[in-house]
Amino acid sequence: MFNNVLVAVDLIMEPARFVLDKTREFVDADATIHVIHVVEPQYVQYSFDPTFTGSLTRSLERDALEGAAQRVAEICEPYAIPSELQHVILGRAADRIHEAATEHGCQAIIIGSHSQHGWRRLLGSTANAVLHGAPVDVVVVRIPKDAG
Ligand code: AMP
Repeated sequence: MFNNVLVAVDLIMEPARFVLDKTREFVDADATIHVIHVVEPQYVQYSFDPTFTGSLTRSLERDALEGAAQRVAEICEPYAIPSELQHVILGRAADRIHEAATEHGCQAIIIGSHSQHGWRRLLGSTANAVLHGAPVDVVVVRIPKDAG
């Protein structure tokens, strides 16, 4: 049983909650559950180009971060996960997830087997990237087809 974990979620309600439900099976009742969502730059138009650092980019990033934070709060609501344990960060998902696990002293990272969006669904790219070079144990929760 773990008592301090980091659950990485995409923003799709059902699979994210499926992973959070499963998490409760392998943490102590009073465990600290951190939740992280990483807004990846390719989802923020223009910011993929490092030469484009104008105010439009910053405003798109801010909007993306705010929207993601609201969604993460909604996902976490039934689990009473306080806002200070909800982390919404801009960057490359695997890197930020590894950093956050270390920063918050988590014993394990919990992720789903795949996300539900487009080509990423086929590749399971975030799950693979998180496994490589993870600073702590990684638990991959298999998300059944009917959970999203
Ligand atoms: P993927 O490998 O992209 O299909 O996603 C697998 C799992 O990684 C998802 O079920 C989530 O647990 C996690 N994940 C995917 N994208 C993100 C993201 N942007 N931020 C945090 N976790 C993510």
